[in-house]
Amino acid sequence: MALGPPPEEGTVAVVVRVRPPNPREREGAAHAVLHVVDQHILVFDPEEPGGLLAGRAPKHRCKDLKFVFDRVFGEGATQEEVFQHTTREVLDGVLNGYNCSVFAYGATGAGKTYTMLGSEKSPGIMYLTMVELYKRIEARKEEKTCEVLISYQEVYNEQIHDLLEPKGPLAIREDPEKGIVVQGLSFHQPKSAEQLLEMLANGNKNRTQHPTDANATSSRSHAVFQIYVKQQDRVVGLAQDLQVAKMSLIDLAGSERASVTKTKGERLREGANINRSLLALINVINALADAKSKKTHIPYRDSKLTRLLKDSIGGNCRTIMIAAVSPSMLAYEDTYNTLKYANRAK
Ligand code: ADP
Ligand code: MG
Repeated sequence: MALGPPPEEGTVAVVVRVRPPNPREREGAAHAVLHVVDQHILVFDPEEPGGLLAGRAPKHRCKDLKFVFDRVFGEGATQEEVFQHTTREVLDGVLNGYNCSVFAYGATGAGKTYTMLGSEKSPGIMYLTMVELYKRIEARKEEKTCEVLISYQEVYNEQIHDLLEPKGPLAIREDPEKGIVVQGLSFHQPKSAEQLLEMLANGNKNRTQHPTDANATSSRSHAVFQIYVKQQDRVVGLAQDLQVAKMSLIDLAGSERASVTKTKGERLREGANINRSLLALINVINALADAKSKKTHIPYRDSKLTRLLKDSIGGNCRTIMIAAVSPSMLAYEDTYNTLKYANRAK
């Protein structure tokens, strides 16, 4: 990924992660609809003689669409590899005082939570980021003092709740010095990587489950993990040496209800069933992509999530979008929509 400092206004790096097929997808006629060509290229619904098209009814027209991304991770990619080639590359930015954000986007079941949180056996980006951050801080502790705090919150139904000390809804305030502040949000200092994992797991248990649909566990809630890094030079310790940066790692709500078929420049409208914060985020990212060529208004104010992240997306912040997709025919439309959106975000 080309992420040399300082970042270009509105730069969003977009990567795609294809998860392995699950047992249900592996059995029967659930073909793979993705072909990972190399680290940057992926083909959706590829045309292969005797391959995917063979025996398929004509209505399933082969699209054979080639996409190019900053990086493509195939099903064999490890958590460590995904971390190395995405979030790790923006950690320098955080240590140099720039806010950064990393989003996992995709339909429910596509692998967002696995990528961001992971499991005890293979922890994801949230954990790997903290481990790497502690390592880098340790390496420069002679020159700088550094304080690291974390928070974990949820945006659900346009309300913010603290996941670590369950409370809410909490209000957002814009502070002239501190930037975006969520009033009453708890901050924590995990003593070890293990304690962090425990905190995240407990926090996740506090995520909202949609009451009418047992399968939609947290599929409509956005989980926002934030790391605050406060640094000061050891030598003089003057007030102006204080540097504060924030890294936001976000496990987004499922994108399956958001139709992203609109053309460039057009704003998505909120449907009855569509997640307002997700649509607003899509619009913000699209506006940033458009802003590369012309001056565009960035609609941060349209939702809780985009207001919360206003100081962390766009401007001189680095943003990484990780689009998670299933390789299976069973998720054909979701995968197609996610790829189209990810392509649009570049
Ligand atoms: P989402 O958060 O997008 O709804 P999950 O992350 O919960 O999806 O993934 C759905 C299922 O697939 C989970 O059981 C998860 O463990 C599994 N899974 C997702 N990505 C991977 C991967 N890269 N490797 C192994 N299992 C994965
Ligand atoms: Mg999830």
